[in-house]
Amino acid sequence: MTALSSSRKRALVVGLGVSGIATAIALRGIGWDPVIVERAPGRRSDGYFVVLFGAGRAAARRLGILDAIPDRSPPSSVTYTVDRAGVRKPGLGFGDLPASPRMMLRGDVERAAFAALPHDVEIRYATTPTRIDQNASGVEVTLQHDGGSVTERYDLVVGADGLRSTVRRLVFGPHDRYLHRLGYMIAATTLPGPVGGLSSHEGASLLEPGRAMWVFPFADHPPTVLFSYRTDDVDAEFTGRPAERVRAAYGPQPTGRLLGEALDALDAADAFLFDSVEQPRMDAWSHGRVVLVGDSAWCPSLYAAMGISAALAGADLLGSMLHHNPGDICGALRAWEAQLRPHMTYYQANGLDQRYFVTPGNQRQITLRPVMARSLRLPVIGNALRSLRSNTKSIRERELDIAHAG
Ligand SMILES: Cc1cc2nc3c(=O)[nH]c(=O)nc-3n(C[C@H](O)[C@H](O)[C@H](O)COP(=O)(O)OP(=O)(O)OC[C@H]3O[C@@H](n4cnc5c(N)ncnc54)[C@H](O)[C@@H]3O)c2cc1C
Repeated sequence: MTALSSSRKRALVVGLGVSGIATAIALRGIGWDPVIVERAPGRRSDGYFVVLFGAGRAAARRLGILDAIPDRSPPSSVTYTVDRAGVRKPGLGFGDLPASPRMMLRGDVERAAFAALPHDVEIRYATTPTRIDQNASGVEVTLQHDGGSVTERYDLVVGADGLRSTVRRLVFGPHDRYLHRLGYMIAATTLPGPVGGLSSHEGASLLEPGRAMWVFPFADHPPTVLFSYRTDDVDAEFTGRPAERVRAAYGPQPTGRLLGEALDALDAADAFLFDSVEQPRMDAWSHGRVVLVGDSAWCPSLYAAMGISAALAGADLLGSMLHHNPGDICGALRAWEAQLRPHMTYYQANGLDQRYFVTPGNQRQITLRPVMARSLRLPVIGNALRSLRSNTKSIRERELDIAHAG
């Protein structure tokens, strides 16, 4: 077991995703020594479509990575709704959401953050925690690597290890206590080029009750595709080949050109994302000297399009709070959460609301999408429209001032 040897505080950051890298940058910025462990054998720079909103932009600027994050929105981009017969109508894209977000690939943000990480921050790949114990003065973590294990002592442990966080499981409890399934699956991949007769600056959505397909164009990169569909049996979706499950979700009817080419591309893809849509709901994001940051704590879901922005904002604020409370780590974590939680609650609520924007549940929601999109800008219409959306009654009132700040 190693002892805390220097006067600099040591933090273990679990996960080399955007949250983990950003947290390590923030901690180093306030004079801490972060060590990052990542379960994968190397960096994970993949990912398909993310957006950066104002709160994420401000945090990225403070972390020193904003200029390295490209905006890949194509000039004069348009989004159509297209049906299987190939009929196109003017449609709404993510660029039509409030606050005109920057659009990019997740890997763009990962690379920008990684480039800003000081070279002497220790990173251990293929390493994962198996035990976490703490007392008032520190946290002991057992880390597994290459069949062996080592126990080390830290001042703070940050679980930045994503939706199915091991840190959360070890310290707070099993996944099913915290993870709420939304009843949707997503799949995404990079397309070899424009599909279905679209040109390189054209995006498309193909919307049917309970299932949708989106094509996102980029200025200097092949488009990516997102499939999103409703399911009553998430577990069954994880059996068999993902591409076959996705194809089955779109039914036996002829696909038409756009959907057909996109499904073929998913079938042939070496790299893709396939997952259920879930949100963690927790009463507290820290326990003593262990804190969760990013998707492990508050994953708003892909439908909120806030994953990256929230990750950067949370990591940046964590650094500030620890800096301003140098002698009281647990107090700093509580103050951090108190400041952040209203925003993340709002983003999670947005994730629930916006699933109908991304994947309308029925024909009525397809028809009402333009009104629904405007409601995301206008609070009055937003309140009136809430009754149209099923399953949102328990969501607390929107705080649109937070959205505009974000
Ligand atoms: C490969 C990948 C592709 C993605 N693509 C998209 C996309 O196209 N669109 C989108 O909206 N969002 C995407 N996301 C999610 C998006 O990155 C997050 O919502 C957001 O960036 C917040 O990320 P995070 O760092 O909190 O979690 P994540 O991005 O999930 O990162 C968590 C990291 O922790 C690591 N990890 C997990 N368990 C352990 C463990 N036990 N020990 C050590 N390390 C562990 C993971 O390997 C990963 O590197 C993707 C995530 C990943 C990992």
